[in-house]
Amino acid sequence: MVRHDILHLLSEHAGEYVSGERISQQLNVTRAAIWKQIKVLQGEGFEIEGQTRNGYRLLKCPISLNEWVLKQSLNTTSLGCTIYLEDELTSTNDRAKELARQGGVHGLTVLAKHQSSGQGRLQRQWESPRGGLWMSVVLRPNLSLADASKITLAASVAIVDALWELFRLRIGIKWPNDLVIKGQKLAGILGEVVGEWNTVQTLILGMGINVNFTREQLSAPLNATTLYEILGYEVDLNDLTASILMHLETELMSLERKAFEELRLSWSERAVGLGEEVKILRGEQVFQGIFKGISIDGALLLEMKEGEQSFSAGEVQLRSTMSKYF
Ligand code: ADP
Repeated sequence: MVRHDILHLLSEHAGEYVSGERISQQLNVTRAAIWKQIKVLQGEGFEIEGQTRNGYRLLKCPISLNEWVLKQSLNTTSLGCTIYLEDELTSTNDRAKELARQGGVHGLTVLAKHQSSGQGRLQRQWESPRGGLWMSVVLRPNLSLADASKITLAASVAIVDALWELFRLRIGIKWPNDLVIKGQKLAGILGEVVGEWNTVQTLILGMGINVNFTREQLSAPLNATTLYEILGYEVDLNDLTASILMHLETELMSLERKAFEELRLSWSERAVGLGEEVKILRGEQVFQGIFKGISIDGALLLEMKEGEQSFSAGEVQLRSTMSKYF
């Protein structure tokens, strides 16, 4: 794409002017065509200064999602190898499922600037205003179907580690897959296994993070927060995406080496409520006990008067008995 070629040229000389004539010669396009593409790039949020005498210079890249910028930040070998970035989707998981059925490869990543009907677990709605990170990755790892829940645990750890790496923020994992800070939800994860139309199992891993928008853009009853509320400034969504994909790739590689115990430990170190008294809601039923830990499959282990019982993530919800925590 000419636009991307122009960006490559300008970024090689970031902050310096590159003459229209030089761009025109190197890319074999007219100066009028260059000017037109520069306008498009400016519309995408690239700060490009144009001077009749000196040419163009790139001053700043957008912090909103942009395929070119994201590709520059990506340091992975498989995740994000193919990127679909849309302005609006019903949900990135739905689109990723569709693409997976059409043969989408391991690592294919779908991003939307806004989701009109994002999904949570158990058919719940996930609010997805502009400025958030709404992403789904098609995974066909060398793991069995039974390991699917481990991948969602790995994704929680990857997001926590990315937020620590970039912003030195300590986020907690609320079993099974919610990411919380001071008891408020910042992100959620939704893993969905898709059909067995061939021998390789496919998992769609959806991740939703409240990033560059205010709390007011979410409905009032939600116990939620956003990175913008916590940090007080907007962050680069491309860097954040790249960092999450990098950490996720590392976690997946370790899972493929069957380093399950390592994952269980990493997850436990980042979990909230461990060792505390909690409630588990299963439909109308309520179980109360001490949150002892998770099993290797990600099931919650609850120590009750009657002994230990495990709960798998699919069917129940976790609540604190001291509601201020989570
Ligand atoms: P749970 O916390 O019960 O596991 P899910 O992971 O299924 O919840 O996420 C869906 C729930 O998250 C919704 O029912 C709603 O309460 C809440 N929610 C929806 N959108 C957001 C958002 N953008 N940020 C934080 N919480 C949200």
